[in-house]
Amino acid sequence: MQGDSSKHTPKKRGLLLVMTGASGVGKGTLRARWLADKDVFYSVSWTTREQRPGERDGIDYHFRHRDEFEAALEGDGFLEYAEFVGNFYGTPRAPVEEALASGQDVVLEIEVDGAMQVAAKSPEAVLIFIVPPSLTELRRRLEGRATETPERIEKRLRRAREEILAAHSFRYVLVNDDVDRAVTDLEAIVHAERLRSDLITDAELRRIVET
Ligand code: 5GP
Repeated sequence: MQGDSSKHTPKKRGLLLVMTGASGVGKGTLRARWLADKDVFYSVSWTTREQRPGERDGIDYHFRHRDEFEAALEGDGFLEYAEFVGNFYGTPRAPVEEALASGQDVVLEIEVDGAMQVAAKSPEAVLIFIVPPSLTELRRRLEGRATETPERIEKRLRRAREEILAAHSFRYVLVNDDVDRAVTDLEAIVHAERLRSDLITDAELRRIVET
């Protein structure tokens, strides 16, 4: 037997699931497909970047001015945050903590620096690193979006290369070559994580031995 059973809290907390990986790797598409029919709390990030056509404030992001973001940052309002291509992005702390405490699973979809901050602060977080089938494919996806200059694409690809080579820092690595398969893999990860021994409450264990 391992561990000290006294550290287990009586109430079952939700899982903190962190999807991360290079921009362009398909995190958003995967997340939308995965969560379409699930009762999971998706954490809507704050961002200082401009709203793109089709994006909804409060659903895709909370679009905020830089000074509001900085004030929230000073008030320790974020679980993690990062500056990405000149804009700030952050995970508001309170809604995530409330959902977890109420037993709901929470999904974050964030870039790699932020995911590392979450890992450092919340060792129980489940980090899932999404990688493209190849850098050539990632380049194709970034060029297809046509939202970036060629220099920025090169910069992102160099960064993606370094991150992929450091993939051992994450608990799971998932190759996004086929969305259906990747969603099946995500479900398998969640299924296995729910069976972790640190998630079973002492009350449940006692019930087993006393009945
Ligand atoms: P985009 O501007 O394309 O929507 O997002 C740029 C990058 O920021 C993506 O990799 C996205 O996953 C990431 N991102 C979105 N929200 C957050 C957040 O709250 N924190 C961090 N660290 N990254 C985020």
